[in-house]
Amino acid sequence: MGIVIFITVISGEKDMSKKKVTQEELSKIISEFGNEVAQVFQIMGADIVRLQTMVYNHLEEEGKMERIVCAECQGELLRPNIKGVEKSDDCPSCGKDVFGNKQSTFENWDAGLTNEEE
Ligand SMILES: [Zn+2]
Repeated sequence: MGIVIFITVISGEKDMSKKKVTQEELSKIISEFGNEVAQVFQIMGADIVRLQTMVYNHLEEEGKMERIVCAECQGELLRPNIKGVEKSDDCPSCGKDVFGNKQSTFENWDAGLTNEEE
């Protein structure tokens, strides 16, 4: 009989709607949420790649894309040439200077103009 009384007391509480979530339920919710998030990122990832391809193709048509062959690793690179977008001389695949300039030399002085750094 004691159990019956206990249940009555619990359900009589005002914040009955705040159902206590057990550890098991919580981990189930988290794992389901994680799966959904992973799925969203998967979808988004594919879209971002598509979007990037579209933007890059468009920019190339507009002549706003530079094709650079890295002096270090000979990798072919596409670099957007857009006003307000900082241009990097660092190769995305080898991390070296794509023009083979180890330091600030006269050759990359021109490129340095667009970078607002020292
Ligand atoms: Zn490289």
